[in-house]
Amino acid sequence: MIADIDIWRTARLLMRQRDEPEFYAAQRADELYEAGDLVGSRVWQRIVFAIRNLAERSPVCPVCRNAKWVCESHADRPWKGERSHVSACECGAGAPCPMCNQGEPPDVQWDGKNGG
Ligand SMILES: [Zn+2]
Ligand SMILES: [Zn+2]
Repeated sequence: MIADIDIWRTARLLMRQRDEPEFYAAQRADELYEAGDLVGSRVWQRIVFAIRNLAERSPVCPVCRNAKWVCESHADRPWKGERSHVSACECGAGAPCPMCNQGEPPDVQWDGKNGG
């Protein structure tokens, strides 16, 4: 099972590399579906969804709600660092947001460790 964070990363990559990333991803989903690869097809459907979200460019990050960090296991949920978010996830380690926190080094808002 591909991780959510990889979905978002792939979506971002496609948006940089392709003129019509959503069309490309939808086409891949169709191809895999017709080839009988339902799991692969589902992954590409999620990438289509991610591209749509990213393309909307809302002022609030659609991935982390501006928390800058997301849950490593659920990359579409903000991670509970030192700040509290209503929908923050506490199930495990945090990861830099694949949408808005891809600098090197990542923007750190808390002083804990990324103890994966
Ligand atoms: Zn989680
Ligand atoms: Zn973000």
